[in-house]
Amino acid sequence: MIWKKYYICTPKFMTMEERQLRSQFKIRISGVELGKHCFSVDCDKEFFDLAGIEQLMDGRLNLRIEMEKSEKMVDFHCHFEGYVTAECDRCLAPVNLPMNFDERLLVKLVSENYRSEEEQEDDIWMMDENTYEIDLFHFVYESIVLALPIRIVHEDDADGNPTCDPEVLRRLDEMNAENVENEQETDPRWDALKNIKLD
Ligand SMILES: [Zn+2]
Repeated sequence: MIWKKYYICTPKFMTMEERQLRSQFKIRISGVELGKHCFSVDCDKEFFDLAGIEQLMDGRLNLRIEMEKSEKMVDFHCHFEGYVTAECDRCLAPVNLPMNFDERLLVKLVSENYRSEEEQEDDIWMMDENTYEIDLFHFVYESIVLALPIRIVHEDDADGNPTCDPEVLRRLDEMNAENVENEQETDPRWDALKNIKLD
């Protein structure tokens, strides 16, 4: 019998800084007193790069985590506040987006003989009661990605005019005008076909 080696994904090499950044999201729960505990983490360019949030070029988001630990549950209230920088969908220049939102995560601590088929809910994690720490890295990543607007554009000014790069807007206008002209010049053979009545 031949054993084949399968590599599902190549582990990404992490630098010391990246490991340090990653470790800030690992919240220790084992041996931690019941009650409230607060943490503060800054998510900036290094975080966006490491998490692979391609839309974000820069920014500074402060994340305040309030953890409430009870006997069989860990309740995380996360408050994100700051800004992120992304590319404008219209003019491609950087645009700063203010962010201010909350996310909540409940982690149920279950015994070893708990079976995962039992009651599984999306926003509730089930973890072994002997878990040493909870890694919030992916939760934070998802929270930020979901909070981003679908369409990212520079806001209009008070008069309702776009504040995008004026040079790009001018070129876009020219391109639109050309497209309209091209659409108007239709093939005369198609025009002839349009006049044929099918009934
Ligand atoms: Zn723009």
